[in-house]
Amino acid sequence: MPVNISVTNKPRVVIIGGGFGGIELAKKLSREDIQIVLLDKNNYHTFQPLLYQVATGGLEPDSIAFPIRKIFKHQNNFIFRMAEVLRINPEHNAIETSIGEIEYDYLILATGSRTNFFGMTDVATHAVPMKTIPEALNLRSLVLQNFEKALLTVDLPERDSLMTFVVVGGGPTGIETAGALGELKNHILPRDYPELDINKMQIHIIEKSDRLVNAMSNQSSIKAEEFLKRFDVNVWLNTGVTSYDGKKIIFSNGKQLLSQSVIWAAGVAGASIPGLGEKASFGNRIKVDCYNRVAGHANIFALGDVAAVVTAKNPNGHPMLAPVAIQQGSCLANNLSRLLRNEELIPFQYQSLGVMATVGRNHAVVELPFVKFQGILAWFVWMFVHLMTLVGFRNRLVVFVNWTWSYFSYDRGLRLIIRPFRKPL
Ligand SMILES: Cc1cc2nc3c(=O)[nH]c(=O)nc-3n(C[C@H](O)[C@H](O)[C@H](O)COP(=O)(O)OP(=O)(O)OC[C@H]3O[C@@H](n4cnc5c(N)ncnc54)[C@H](O)[C@@H]3O)c2cc1C
Repeated sequence: MPVNISVTNKPRVVIIGGGFGGIELAKKLSREDIQIVLLDKNNYHTFQPLLYQVATGGLEPDSIAFPIRKIFKHQNNFIFRMAEVLRINPEHNAIETSIGEIEYDYLILATGSRTNFFGMTDVATHAVPMKTIPEALNLRSLVLQNFEKALLTVDLPERDSLMTFVVVGGGPTGIETAGALGELKNHILPRDYPELDINKMQIHIIEKSDRLVNAMSNQSSIKAEEFLKRFDVNVWLNTGVTSYDGKKIIFSNGKQLLSQSVIWAAGVAGASIPGLGEKASFGNRIKVDCYNRVAGHANIFALGDVAAVVTAKNPNGHPMLAPVAIQQGSCLANNLSRLLRNEELIPFQYQSLGVMATVGRNHAVVELPFVKFQGILAWFVWMFVHLMTLVGFRNRLVVFVNWTWSYFSYDRGLRLIIRPFRKPL
C-alpha cells in the first residue's frame, strides 16, 4: 500500500537514515526545488560518540538525541516519516517500508552501521552492544543491577562474576567505556555500595591486535594503555573472543573469565538493505563510486558508514567516522543539485580532521592533522569538540552543565535503573 505523501511534479529525493550523513545532506538541499522525504526508524538523531556516557550514568539519553522534525522545522521542501525500510525495488524506483511503499526519483542510503558479532551467535545473544540509545540504557541498567545483585549474594564466585566487567574491542568506543567504568569504580561505586569490597570489581579490555586504538599512532596506543591502567583496567592484547554463554567468556588463548557483563565494542558492519544486487556489495558495505553512486544504479546513492567509496587511492573505502559521513552528505547535496541542472559532478575527497578518544577524567589521546598530544590538554580538546558538534543548543548546555558538575563533585547523577535490563533466557 502506498504511503500518504503528497504527490508533486517536483523530483522526489528519498533519504533513508537521519544520522550524521542523512541530516547534513537534507539540510544542504534546503534551497532546491525538490521534495525531500527522510525516513528513519527512530524520530530522533543520535549522537553516537557520547553513547558510552549514557551507558555509564554520565549523561541522560535526551541530551545526546535530537528530534528530526525539530531540526527541519523551517525547511519547506522537507517531509519526515518514521519508518523502517525493508527492501529496495530498483526496477520500480520504489522501497518497501514498515508503513507501506514509497516511490523515489533519487534514493540515498544513509543507514549507518550495525553491530557485528562475526557470526558468533552465543556472543550475540549474551553480550551487550552499544550502538543505540536503548542499548546504552540496557547497559546502564545491567551495570547497576549487577551491583544490586552482588550485595544480595553470599556465593563469593557468583559475587565476583557480577563485579567483573569485560569490554571487548580496544578501539575508541572500547577504551572510552572501560575508562568510564574505571571512573565509576574509583569515585562513585564505593560511595553507593559501602558494604561491597569495590577492590573486587574487575574491568578487562580485550583487543585482538597487538595494541589499543590501532587506527591511531603507536604513541597514542601506548598512552591509552597507560591511562587505562591508571583506572585499574586490565588490558589484554593479541586476544580474541571465542565464546560467551552469559557467565563464562572464553578467549582465543584458551584463558577464560567468569563475568555476567560483557560489553561488545568490537565490530560494526554496514547496515545495508536488500535489493541492490551483488554488484553493489563490498564486504559488509555498499560499493559506491567517487560520486557516492551505488555500483550498477544510476539514481541510487549511499553515504557514511554504509558506503565504501572504492577508488584506486582508497581500495577499502574511508573509515566509519562522523566527519566522513558529514563531508559525504555535503558533497552529495552539491552533486544532486548539479545533476538536476545537468552539470558535471565533483568527486568526493575526504579532508581528515583527526581522531581522538578519551580515557576517563583528565585523560585523552588526540591526533590532529599536524599535531599529536595526550593527557589533560587532549581531554579538554576532546570535550570542546564533542560539545560543539552536538546537535541543539539545549543539548550543549545540558551536557556542559553535567560535565562541569561531575568534574567538581566527582559524581555521576544518573545511576537509575528506569527500565530494568532482562538477560535472554
Ligand atoms: C559508540 C560509538 C561511538 C562512536 N564514536 C565516534 C567518535 O568519537 N568520532 C567519530 O567520528 N565517529 C564515532 N562513531 C562513528 C559515527 O557515529 C558514525 O561514523 C556515524 O554515525 C555515521 O553516520 P551515518 O550518517 O553513516 O550513520 P548513523 O549516524 O549511524 O545514522 C544512521 C541512521 O539510519 C537509521 N536507519 C538504519 N537503518 C534503517 C532502516 N532500515 N530504515 C530506517 N532507518 C534506518 C538509523 O536509525 C540511524 O538514525 C561512533 C560510533 C559508535 C557506535
